This record gives sequence, C-alpha cells and structure tokens, in this order.
Amino acid sequence: MKHLTETEIADWVTGLHTPAILRHVEDCPECRERARTLASALQLFRESAREWADNRTPPVRMIPARRPKPWAVRWAVPAVALALLVSVPVYDSYRRDRQARAETALAARQAAEEAEDAALLSQVDTGVSRAVPAPLEPLVSLVSWNSGSWNASAGQ
Ligand SMILES: [Zn+2]
Repeated sequence: MKHLTETEIADWVTGLHTPAILRHVEDCPECRERARTLASALQLFRESAREWADNRTPPVRMIPARRPKPWAVRWAVPAVALALLVSVPVYDSYRRDRQARAETALAARQAAEEAEDAALLSQVDTGVSRAVPAPLEPLVSLVSWNSGSWNASAGQ
C-alpha cells in the first residue's frame, strides 16, 4: 500500500482532504499516527500562540481561520480551464500577428536595401559610362570630336 505524502497528511489535518485520503487515514495505522502527530503539534502551536497573544498588553485580536467556500473550490477549476481556453487562442493570434508584422518589416527593409543597392549601382554605372570625368564636362562643349583627331572649336 502506498502511504500518504506530507501534503496529503497536511490536507487531512486542515480538513481539505479527498475521500481517498480520508479512507486511507482510517485504514492505515501508520498514516493515522503521522496525521495525529502533525495535528497535535499544530494544536500545541495554536495554544501557545493564543497564550502568547492573551498575555500581550494590549491583547492581540485573533482572527478566526477561514476555509475556502465549497462552491469557490468547485468553480475554481472550470474557471481556470475557461480562462486557459480563452487566452490560448488570443495569445496564439497575437503571436501570429506579431510574426506577420515582423515578416512585413523584414520584407520592407530588404526592399529598401535592394532599392539602395540599385541606386548605388546606377550611380556607379553612370560614373563608369562617362566619356569624360564630370569636372571636365564643361570643356567638352569647347572641343569638337572628329574621327581620330580633334580641333579646338574655340581656336578656329
Ligand atoms: Zn499509509
């Protein structure tokens, strides 16, 4: 037989046990002894805390222990499940949307880089295809080109 865990023993002592835990404590002398030991230790602690509180001036007001209401425990699991059911698709949609935005931004950045590269290439192409360097271009209008030889138009 598998004995109860410390948590299950604590559940029995605090009254938050399942029917299986209750049945095991009733049937198993070893676990019953462990549960009684824990319960008596807690009882001693409670009594000493009360005694300490009563001897204080002014006396400390003890707040009665509150157990969770049965309906709250019963609704907690379906409420958490419902919250998960709602939040998982929302999160998934958010994640997909974010991914799509990141892909769009990446595509836009790549397109911009390609346009920049094309502009640079076009600039280089223009520079390379020039017959005369740009600073000398004003002089070209002063010189007429004939096949093989040139004459300065300004001189004749
Ligand atoms: Zn046991």
